[in-house]
Amino acid sequence: DDTLPMTDEFDTTVYDDDDADESYLEDATVAVLGFGSQGHAHAQNLDDSGVDVVVGLPEGNEDRPVAEDAGLPVETPPEAAAEGDIVVMLVPDNVQPVVYDDIEDALEPGDTLQFAHGFNIHYGQIEPPEGVDVTMVAPKSPGHLVRRTYQRGEGTPGLVAVEQDESGEAREEALAYAKAIGCTRAGVIETTFREETETDLFGEQAVLCGGVTEMMKVGYETLVDAGYSPEMAYFEVLNELKLIVDLVYEGGLMEMWNSVSDTAEYGGLTRGEYVIDESAREGMEQILEEVQNGEFAKEWISENQTNRPSYKQLREAEGNHEIEDVGERLRELFAWDEEAE
Ligand code: NAD
Ligand code: MG
Ligand code: MG
Ligand code: MG
Ligand code: MG
Repeated sequence: DDTLPMTDEFDTTVYDDDDADESYLEDATVAVLGFGSQGHAHAQNLDDSGVDVVVGLPEGNEDRPVAEDAGLPVETPPEAAAEGDIVVMLVPDNVQPVVYDDIEDALEPGDTLQFAHGFNIHYGQIEPPEGVDVTMVAPKSPGHLVRRTYQRGEGTPGLVAVEQDESGEAREEALAYAKAIGCTRAGVIETTFREETETDLFGEQAVLCGGVTEMMKVGYETLVDAGYSPEMAYFEVLNELKLIVDLVYEGGLMEMWNSVSDTAEYGGLTRGEYVIDESAREGMEQILEEVQNGEFAKEWISENQTNRPSYKQLREAEGNHEIEDVGERLRELFAWDEEAE
């Protein structure tokens, strides 16, 4: 298939502008459901790219005036979905099954139901009808950057996946959409709903959100319990993390190691594994298993169905951690930093 280029730079398929043909959107109306982080960016980028867009938000939704101010037509989700040939689910993941119930009847054979995250399809919370294409176009970036880079003539990298291809043109259409929101300017990686969902959940639990916050809290507690000042502990285990992550983000691990002192480098290379040891690896494998076997999804779905009792409790405890108080006081000292930007 000559529309699926394999580049020799990557193990996976990466599409750019030349691989995407916007004419697949020529006669299509896109119904963007939700106007939050992703929704506002997709809808406005599509509109600027000359694609017919209608935004779907319920009566009284707080983002309605925002979408109207952007000059876009706004209707209720079922009305927008009825008009849309491509219906894009950009409402919060836990709300999607409810919104889907409202718009299911508006999906006709030949339509496309599109997502920016695979959770509800992968874990069976939304079961689209036959005759409908099911695709994903997921910028690997928060919405405000999807919008801002597009306006500068650039784009953010993204993912594309096809779960159900009834038309035979699902991938071409998804790539056209990715082009219209700017993602193929940067590069769009081919994936599957399963891979996107499971790697996303694993990453945020094991490393990005869960792993990092636990490391910061335990590091802080270790210093403070040993008698060091909370302020010093905060700076050493939390504040400075941004500097380290920025270096790794810009130039990889070696850029970071090259920038810190030789003492920091030797200490880090020899002692890091005291913390992230075999038991940490087993913990990560456990996380991955619960993601793969659906245990995590089941737990989170049932939390949402019962008004989120554990979630609320955990959030409150996190907010009450001493590191939050110290941080609030110390961040005042950095006020000059924000004003300078
Ligand atoms: P968001 O919370 O920023 O915005 C959600 C929008 O949906 C808001 O406009 C809200 O008013 C609206 N909404 C809420 N309830 C609604 C309802 N019942 N009917 C219609 N609209 C309703 O959400 P987001 O972060 O843009 O996430 C949307 C999707 O994009 C999710 O699947 C998410 O996983 C995915 N995604 C998000 C990001 C990101 O960085 N934010 C990145 C990639 C993918
Ligand atoms: Mg329709
Ligand atoms: Mg179609
Ligand atoms: Mg996620
Ligand atoms: Mg130091």
